[in-house]
Amino acid sequence: MPPAVKNQFASDNYAGICPEAMQAMHEANQGCATSYGDDPWTARACNALRQFFETDCEVFFVFNGTAANSLALASLCNSYHSVICHQTAHVETDECGASEFFSNGTKLLTVGGADGKIDLAQVEHTVTKRSDIHYPKPRVLTITQPTELGTLYTPQELIAVHGLTKRLGLKLHVDGARFANAVAALNVPPRELTWRAGVDVLTFGGTKCGLPVGEAVVFFDKKLAFEFDYRCKQAGQLASKMRFLSAPWLGILENDALLRHASHANDCARKLAKRLSAISGVKLVHPTEANAVFVQLPQHAIDGLRQRGWVFYTFIGSGHCRFMCSWATCDEDIDALVTDLQQLQP
Ligand SMILES: *Cc1c(COP(=O)(O)O)cnc(C)c1O
Repeated sequence: MPPAVKNQFASDNYAGICPEAMQAMHEANQGCATSYGDDPWTARACNALRQFFETDCEVFFVFNGTAANSLALASLCNSYHSVICHQTAHVETDECGASEFFSNGTKLLTVGGADGKIDLAQVEHTVTKRSDIHYPKPRVLTITQPTELGTLYTPQELIAVHGLTKRLGLKLHVDGARFANAVAALNVPPRELTWRAGVDVLTFGGTKCGLPVGEAVVFFDKKLAFEFDYRCKQAGQLASKMRFLSAPWLGILENDALLRHASHANDCARKLAKRLSAISGVKLVHPTEANAVFVQLPQHAIDGLRQRGWVFYTFIGSGHCRFMCSWATCDEDIDALVTDLQQLQP
């Protein structure tokens, strides 16, 4: 058996399946059930998500975030439209053009903004600078919550975002690959970060918060979900044994495990950020608001950590070091990283 990856802060998708999701999978594995989503587990998981958001929304389960984002965006656009996103957005940098592909050409237009959050003035400029027929017509604003740089849009900031999208006639999509971490960190009801703040569609990440696989696409404006089931099927995203995508959601929603695990990951990141920034030569590059810690390290420290077997990313955003915590991160992991970094001091 290959050894488990130790010494990793690479990503929350390195972590395994949380016990509550595993238990729910196990319970769903009793006998036969109707396929393609017409099973009791899927109906219950959809209802659990409606309860979570305290509204009657349309819910679809797909295999991954790239599909969730790109199919959601495709359903909001025609091929001649454009989608505005931050230049560090996952849809722009890490989805291999899936949004453009599934929408048959809808163009992503990028804007800047500090710490991974879109600059509203730049959004407005991008939308209003042209109104002629040669420009891809702006149709959607997509933001990431928490952002790719581990920061959060506060409910107040979301209200400002919504004010702008409403004024400009844009739909609002949220890439919530780590949405649970945002809810836990901001400590507000999920409704305040979604439909109450004008969000039309949310990609709700399950994988990174402890599910084996799968994300939920949640349409708060139910009209926008028109024929979304066909879109999923055509894209190869309709699971035939759907109960094994949906039951794990039930497992983490029914006993609040989702937010407990997300809080744990956020707490780990906060601890790690505090201890790392106390080491000389280590500089925090973005505020640690969810479960990611971004630091600038001297090159010898990066090389030294890698030599000691540490796995972490240096390709996100500004190219500094990202240490990502998950539901499975423990104090020993944090201690071990901090100790190694201290020993690598010149
Ligand atoms: C991980 C992630 C996704 C989804 O990625 P998949 O690998 O396609 O599941 C989407 N958006 C963000 C911000 C992510 O971090």
